[in-house]
Order: sequence, then C-alpha cells, then structure tokens
Amino acid sequence: MKNSVILILVAAAVIYIAFFYREADGVDQVKADMVLKNGNIYTANDAQWIAEAVAVKDDEIIFVGSAADAQDYVGENTNMIDLVGNTVFPGLTDAHVHIKWIGQRELGLNLQGIDDLGETVAKIKKYVEKTPEGEWVVGVGWIEKKWKEGRFLNKDDLDPFSPNHPVVANRAGEHSIVANSKAMEIAGITRDTPDPDGGQILKDENGELTGMFVDNAMALIRDHIPAPSREQNKRSLQAGFDFMSRMGWAQVQQAGGTYNDIDIIKEIHSEGNLKTSIYYAMNMGEEGRKLLDRGPEISEDRMIDIKGIKYFADGALGSRGAALLEPYDDAEGKGLQLIDREEALPVYIEALKKGVQIETHAIGDYANRFVLDLYEEAFNAVPASERAEPDPRWRIEHAQITHPDDQKRYKELDIIAVVEASTVKGDLYFAPDRIGSERLGYAYLWKSLIDQGIRFTAGTDAPVEVGDPRVEFFSLVQRTDFNGFYTDDWHVEEKLSHAQALKTMTLWAAHAAFQDDIRGSIEVGKKADFSVFDQDWMQIEPIEIMDSETVMTIVGGKVTYER
Ligand SMILES: [Zn+2]
Repeated sequence: MKNSVILILVAAAVIYIAFFYREADGVDQVKADMVLKNGNIYTANDAQWIAEAVAVKDDEIIFVGSAADAQDYVGENTNMIDLVGNTVFPGLTDAHVHIKWIGQRELGLNLQGIDDLGETVAKIKKYVEKTPEGEWVVGVGWIEKKWKEGRFLNKDDLDPFSPNHPVVANRAGEHSIVANSKAMEIAGITRDTPDPDGGQILKDENGELTGMFVDNAMALIRDHIPAPSREQNKRSLQAGFDFMSRMGWAQVQQAGGTYNDIDIIKEIHSEGNLKTSIYYAMNMGEEGRKLLDRGPEISEDRMIDIKGIKYFADGALGSRGAALLEPYDDAEGKGLQLIDREEALPVYIEALKKGVQIETHAIGDYANRFVLDLYEEAFNAVPASERAEPDPRWRIEHAQITHPDDQKRYKELDIIAVVEASTVKGDLYFAPDRIGSERLGYAYLWKSLIDQGIRFTAGTDAPVEVGDPRVEFFSLVQRTDFNGFYTDDWHVEEKLSHAQALKTMTLWAAHAAFQDDIRGSIEVGKKADFSVFDQDWMQIEPIEIMDSETVMTIVGGKVTYER
C-alpha cells in the first residue's frame, strides 16, 4: 500500500518536471491565432500604457509586450497583422446608443448634418416623391441650430408636396418631431387637442398647429405609424451594428430596448454577423418588468449582456424639456418631469435586490437631484447585504446640469455620470440662451467630476449624434465645435486629457457595464477587442483626428470591419 503511494508520487513528480522543462524550453509554447505588431498600441492599462505587440488566442489576449517577445507566440497558423504604424486602442465602447434607430437612420431618410432649412425640406420632398402614396415617410435627425432661419420645421414646410403622404421627421435629440397635416389628420389632432401630461403640441400665435410635438406629445402621432415588421427590424439592427463597427466601435451600450429586439440580436449573433458586443438596458415599464422577473442575462461569450433598465426623468435642453430647478432664461417654465416617484421607487428597490442596474436619463438640475433622491432612497431601503450586486453601479445618463450641492452626492452614492460628449459642439450654440451664464458654470461638467472621484464615462447617444468615435474623442479633449469656437462662459477648461478621454471610451465604459474584468484595456486574459485607426489620436492635433480613418475593428479576436 505504502509502496504504491510512493510510486504515484514519484510518477507525478516526473510528469511535473517533464512538463515544466518543456514549458521552459518553449517547445510547447501556446501559439497565437493572431498577432498584431508594428503599431502604436495604447493599452489603457496604467501599469503598461504602451506596447509593441499583442497576441490573441480564441477570443482572449494572451500576450502584451515587445515585438521580440511576441515572436514566441507565432506558429504556422498564426494570422500576422502588420499594423504598419497604425494606432491600436482597446475596443472602443459607445456607452449610450440606440442601435436599431441608428440602423433605421442609415437605411432611411437621414436628415442629419444638413446646415440649411431649404436643403432639409428638399431632401424630404425627394423621399416623399419616391414613396408610394398613403405610405408613411419618417425622417430623422434634422436640427435647426445652424439654419439661418433659426426656427423649427413646421407643417407648412411639408404640406405643399405631401397632401397624400403622412410625413413625420424627428428632430435630433428624439425629444420632438414635426408632422405634416396628413399625419395629424390620421392621428385626429386638431387645434383643440389638449396637451398630454409631460408633452406639448406647439401652436403659433393664432393658436394654429405648427406640426411640432414635444416629448410625451410625440406619441399622439407616432402611435399611428405602422410598426415595422420583424424582417425590417432585423435589417435595421444589422445596419446599426455594421455602421458602428465601421466607425471603429467594438461595443455599444443600448439605452433602452425590448426583448423582441434582443431575440433578433441573438439571431444575428448565431449567424455570425454581430459586429460589436452589446450591453443592454430594457425600456422602463413592461420590458423592465420582464427583466426583473427573468433576472439579468450574462452571455457565455459576453457578446450580449442584459442587465439594465432605462428610465427617463426629463426631456432635452434644446426642446426646453429638461427639468430645471429655476425657470429657463429664454422661456417660461421649468421643463418637463417624466418620472413618477411612486411608480419608479418600487422598481428601483426590486432592481437592487435582483442585481439589475438602473440607468436614468437626467439632463436638468432638477431632474438630476430628483434621481439622486430616488437612488438614495432605494439604497437606504436595501442594505448591501440584501443586494444581489453589492456594488450596484447605477448610472445617470447625460448628467448634464448638476447643481454643486448634488455633485458630491454622485460621489457619496457612487453613481456613474454617463455624459454625451459629441453633443457639446452643437449645444454650445443654444445652452447659454437656455440656462444663462451662472448655471453654465455647473453644466456639462467632465474634468471636475473626474477630479472629485466621480465615476465617469460617455456615449454619443446615436442616432441623436452620428455615433462617430472621432467626434466623441475630439469633443472630450477639445470641447469646442470643429472650428474651435466656444463662448466665453463655456468653461472649456472642463475638457479632458487624452489619457482620460481614452479611459472614458474604454476602461470606464467597461466598468459601467460590469465588464472591467474582461474588457476596457489591453491586458492578458481580457477579450481581444481592438479599434485600429490610421492616425495616432494621442499625438496629433485634436482637429486632425477628424481626418483619420478606421483601419480595422476586432471583436473577440474576429475582424468585424476592415478598411
Ligand atoms: Zn439616448
């Protein structure tokens, strides 16, 4: 008996030593599926900020270091990617998007970036002309900020060429729409239709409908637009992922959606066509209820994680829907509150118990305070020992106007501020009018939030913005429009360093999705997600970033876009 135990021990030792020596010899060195070298690799890992080469096996990073050492990982079947001096970042994450709407924009009537009212109307007219009579025409993305008329679109712009087409066009920001007379006729809207709660039907000085519908009033029209088929939704979702991958994003974080869409996204993934990973928050209401009942869903390959519920506390600043503590400077009223404490609080409490993350849209200083109050109340109701996720990582989306009294509460409650950096290049034209100089002093805070130790990340809110990582990075480090313009009270000193901007779009975004252990930096053991560009954003002038191009997007070791 004794002898056999000794024999086994000796045999084990021999096997162990043999194994050890072979490892040390490099004979059985694991070979990589992919090695990237000859580029500027920024890791977003403070312990090793720059590397010459990265090796990947399956969907994971197995080596980060010098080009010489990377050679050990090169085998017969290793895909060698010569970066020829290009720049590699950890897979960039857009922490706030609406992926299906991005796809709808790409496939449909896209009015984004047209700096002229006449041209905008002409583009709608052209689209109407090629659409069969009676079918709805839905445009997205118009914005009057740079139009010399400086006014919203109205029904009179649209009616002359659309007597038989219902037409709706969403203003960028998704907080207001314009409808033509045909659309209003179908929806049964007259000058006597009352404003719904939390919404406004805009009228001219004679009390006539202008065609504009703000916040909750949008549903009066939208409810009459036929729902897209599953096939149409699948085309839109695919187009959304294709677009974001082409832009260089490796992950998107969806701010509100449905299980029907998740079902389609899973199908796209099973067909091998999911071009970015996605972190998903459900719409408040019915869909959020389903998540609470089913619990968070963390996928095996971490390509589709479902863990959040998206709430709305107010509207947008541009359409004066943001809920403010004091009235607007350029209009009466304090904006719109879109959240109900009695409805939200029980959900928030249940979410804490079930490990569900809450993210709430809050733009105005009133809305931010209201949400912090609600979060605090929920946290107090559920002690850490009763939470499924001890560190709940709740988020406030936009976090745009935060009263000084409330900033330290972000820190105390450890709430993540998810700002929308790309919007500042447009907002700086109207925000001073809306809220005035004093409130601008605590609006669009970035650097001072980070300096206070507040968790921070950013999203483009595409399709509100294009969804372009160059614009996001440029905005974070520059905080002006593309001509370098900003107003005196704009607080340009709130811009970030390049390193902070990179972490905002990588490591800190991963934290906001409970993925900083597997994503967000180029480190051994993390997912092989990379965004490759032909210019070194960390070195060139910020405006030159806009001339760079995506060379390659790699997600989980697979190339999902190549120039
Ligand atoms: Zn959004």
